[in-house]
Amino acid sequence: MRLLASPLNLRLRHTFTTARSASDIAHNVLVRLRAGELEGCGEAAPVHYYGQTQESCLRALRRMAPCLRAHTPFDLEAVLRELGHRFPKEPSAIAAVDIALHDLIGKRLGLPLWKYWGLDPSRTPRTSFTIGIASLERVVAKVREAEKYPVLKIKVGVANDLEILREVRRLAPRKTLRVDANCGWTVKETIAKARAMEKLGIEFIEQPIPPGNNAALKRIKNFIGLPLMADESSLAPEDVPALRGCVDGINIKLVKCGGLRAGMQMIHTARACGLKIMLGCMIESSVLISAAAQLSPLADYADLDGNLLITNDPFRGVRVDNQAKLILPQAAGIGV
Ligand code: MG
Repeated sequence: MRLLASPLNLRLRHTFTTARSASDIAHNVLVRLRAGELEGCGEAAPVHYYGQTQESCLRALRRMAPCLRAHTPFDLEAVLRELGHRFPKEPSAIAAVDIALHDLIGKRLGLPLWKYWGLDPSRTPRTSFTIGIASLERVVAKVREAEKYPVLKIKVGVANDLEILREVRRLAPRKTLRVDANCGWTVKETIAKARAMEKLGIEFIEQPIPPGNNAALKRIKNFIGLPLMADESSLAPEDVPALRGCVDGINIKLVKCGGLRAGMQMIHTARACGLKIMLGCMIESSVLISAAAQLSPLADYADLDGNLLITNDPFRGVRVDNQAKLILPQAAGIGV
C-alpha cells in the first residue's frame, strides 16, 4: 500500500472557543492509502493540548508510510499494533491510517462498514450541535442560528456559566441541552452548579474537572442528580475499566483513541463496565465524521457535528435529517 498525506485546513463558521482553547482554522491532515486500483481515505485532527500539530502529524505519517508498503488492508491487527508501538504520541495520525484501512476493506468487499459490522442503520442517534464559549449576546445569536438542531451541547467553563445556560434554556425551552465544561471546573464548583443545571433540565455534564482523578469524578457522581460523562479522562480503551462506577458514560473520539478499531474496543469495554457511550469529534471534515458515524448505531449519544461547524468541507458522507438524526451513507467503506 502507498500512503499519501497532505494538509487539510478547515475554516470555521465561528471562532470555536472552549474552556481550553480558541481557533478559526482547524489544521487537519488528509490521508490517502492506495492498494491496487482502490484508494482509502482517512483524516487526522491533531490535538494541540496533547502535543500534536499538523507538522508533527505529517512527519509521523511520512515515517509510517514504509511500514505499510508490504501490507494489505486486511492486516489491520499487525499494522495497528506496530504503529501504536512506534508512534504512541500520535494517535490522531494512527486514526487516519486506521480509517483509510477500514475504508479500503469496505471498498474491497463492496460494503459500507456499518453493514460489514452487522449494525442496524436505523438505530443511529441524533447528533448534538455545539455552541462554543462566547459572550452572552453571541451565544444568543448562535442559539438562534442553530434553530434547526433539537439537541445542543453548550460549552461552559466561564464565570457566567449559569447565566448563559438560563438564557439558552429560555430561548430553547424544549430542546435537549448538554453541557461540556472541558475540565474548566473544580469538584466544589461542579456540585454547586449541578443543582442549578438540574432545574434547567440539562441532560448530562461532560468532563467538569481535569483528567487524572477518577476518585474526584466518583465524588461528583455520587453527589449530583445529573449523569456525568468522561471525555478527557477516557482517551483510549485502557482508560475505560478504571472509570467504572466513577462516571455514567464515556465520550469516544477516533482521534483520541487511534481509530475505528480502538473505538470499537472502547465501546465493548464500556458496555461491559455498564457505561453509556457517546461518540464525539473535534473540528473534522466529513471523512472523520462519516467514519465515526459508522459506529453510531452502537452509541447512546452522538456529538458528531465537526463537519457542520466548517465552511469548506471537501467531502460528502453522513448526513443529518431534520431531527439531526445521523443518516448513514450506503456507499462502501466509510461512505465518502
Ligand atoms: Mg468534550
